[in-house]
Parts: sequence; C-alpha cells; structure tokens
Amino acid sequence: MIIVLTGTPGTGKSSLAKALAKKLKFPYLDVNKVIDKENLIIEYDKERDSNVVDENKLSKVLVKLIKSNKDLIIDSHLSHYIPQKHVDFCIVTKCDLKVLKKRLEKRKYSKSKVRENMDAEIFDICLNEAIEAKHNIIILDTTKRTLKGLIKTVENEINKN
Ligand code: ADP
Ligand code: MN
Repeated sequence: MIIVLTGTPGTGKSSLAKALAKKLKFPYLDVNKVIDKENLIIEYDKERDSNVVDENKLSKVLVKLIKSNKDLIIDSHLSHYIPQKHVDFCIVTKCDLKVLKKRLEKRKYSKSKVRENMDAEIFDICLNEAIEAKHNIIILDTTKRTLKGLIKTVENEINKN
C-alpha cells in the first residue's frame, strides 16, 4: 500500500507520516532526502527563500521507488504530484490558521515565507491540486488531534476501502 502525505508546510505531515509508518510497519520516505541524493534542486529562489525542485524528475524517481516497495509512506508537500495510479491514499493535512502561523514562526521562517505558506493553506493549494489529480484523499485537520487519534482515523479510512 502506497500512502502519500501532502499539505502546507507546518500542517503536520512529517509528525503523522513517521507515526503512521511506525504503526503500520511501513517504510517511511522523506522526499527531501531523495531531492538531495538525486540532485533535484534546479535553483534557489532568493525572493521566496526556497529551493526550486525539478518536479518531473522527482515524480519519476518516486515512481521507481514505489515500484520497488510493496508498502511506502511518502512525506512531502510535493507528493501529490505522483500520478494517482501509483498511489492508494493521499492524506492532506490541514491546520487552523492561527496555530499554523505559530508553528511556522517557531521555525524562524521569514515574514514573507510565513505569509506564503499561510496563503497556500488559505487557498488549499495542496488539497486542490490533489483533487485535480484525482487522488483518493483523506483530509485530516491536525490542529486539535493527537497522533494516536489521527492514526485511528487513517486506519478506519483504509479499512473502508
Ligand atoms: P510538516 O511536516 O507538515 O511541515 P510537522 O509534522 O513538522 O509538519 O509539524 C509542524 C509542527 O506542528 C511541529 O512543531 C509539530 O510538533 C506540530 N504538530 C504536528 N502535528 C501535530 C498534532 N497532531 N498536534 C499538535 N501539534 C502537532
Ligand atoms: Mn515535514
């Protein structure tokens, strides 16, 4: 089973992905490590203080990894770019805006980077792109939920199908 976790930075992907991988005994894949290892950064966008990733190449590398793993938990706000046919479930994490702002500020993000991520959450960019890609979506708001509760919800959704 291939589960991808997407969502605005700070909404709780990595926390949930790691806990879920442990619970389901699935391997956990940190896409940032793949990006580093495979040299998939095209350039650094100074204005946005973020790396521009070759999303086409990344998708190809991830599909290869999917094909060589029976089960996988893939953690990245870019993970919904993997074509739907390779993915069983696409979890989209969401978070209350006030809480998200606090989480991002705690990371010492610049004001503009906080703003950019807040906008991404307000406009549901990841969710809308995941819907567009016809993923089998599980939306989870992590604002007031424990990891244990979130995992339970995921397990229920998986068992429904
Ligand atoms: P992402 O991987 O989407 O950037 P993280 O998992 O790193 O998000 O979480 C961002 C911050 O939010 C961390 O400080 C983490 O402790 C907190 N957080 C994540 N999930 C929860 C949750 N379910 N309840 C409370 N805080 C959470
Ligand atoms: Mn993360």
